[in-house]
Amino acid sequence: MKRLIFFLSMIAAVKAGAAEPPVLFLQGQARQGEMLFGYVTPQSELTLNGEKVETRADGWFLFGIGRDDTGDLTFKAVRDGAETVHAYTIAPRKWNVQRINGLPQNTVTPTEEEEQRIAREFTLTQDARMKNVEMEIPLCFDRPAAGRISSVYGSQRILNGEPKAAHNALDIANKQGTPVTAPADGVVLLAHDDMFLSGKTVLIGHGQNVVTSYIHLSEIAVKDGQKIKKGQRIGRIGMTGRATGPHLHWVVSWKDKRVDPQVFLNNSAKFCPPAKKSKKNKR
Ligand SMILES: [Zn+2]
Repeated sequence: MKRLIFFLSMIAAVKAGAAEPPVLFLQGQARQGEMLFGYVTPQSELTLNGEKVETRADGWFLFGIGRDDTGDLTFKAVRDGAETVHAYTIAPRKWNVQRINGLPQNTVTPTEEEEQRIAREFTLTQDARMKNVEMEIPLCFDRPAAGRISSVYGSQRILNGEPKAAHNALDIANKQGTPVTAPADGVVLLAHDDMFLSGKTVLIGHGQNVVTSYIHLSEIAVKDGQKIKKGQRIGRIGMTGRATGPHLHWVVSWKDKRVDPQVFLNNSAKFCPPAKKSKKNKR
């Protein structure tokens, strides 16, 4: 809170003088898997490593760092000819190794035909993820389902003894049929009934390149292009696609980067009303 007050007083200082460089501020850590919330003086031109970053009218913006990203992040904000540059080096994180056995072997080593289907469905979700959603991103996100965290983000997976891609999601395990609700307002980018790996799948765009995905659902309650409200039921937990038990595989992404959903919720909680905040910390 002190930080926020300090930072609000900085905004006031900038408003007083016209040619002051813009305020630029990041909440969260520049580390792998992070979804950071940043602030820049409104009406500034903001770039990250030379690429334009969209901001809300009030100056807040979000950006994600991929699990395996390394190197530097250079933010440059320009307003009325004055600029502010902040550079960060992405800090590495340690990931655990998760072994899962007993998966149907055809889902671990798919046939050529299945490989093609997986690739097609991957393209479908990637295209949906890149769709532009015309809305200002909400800052307070809630957990989309109740349940036990059965798998964290980032784990290196060894499926039936074969090393596979890392787990770029948060798994919330609960009984089949447990409601899955929208963590924030958004637009349905994709509602797919049967994907080889992810089963019944829903993607929601929240604006400014932030997308949340809901995988292995037993039931989908929304349609493509539908506008949805925070807390609205979008489906139910299931185990369609490649899953060993009923759980929600929850992906949070920014552009093509999948971030750590738990870190995202933690950073987002600072923007939630206090009552919501304490509720969210419960498992
Ligand atoms: Zn998962």
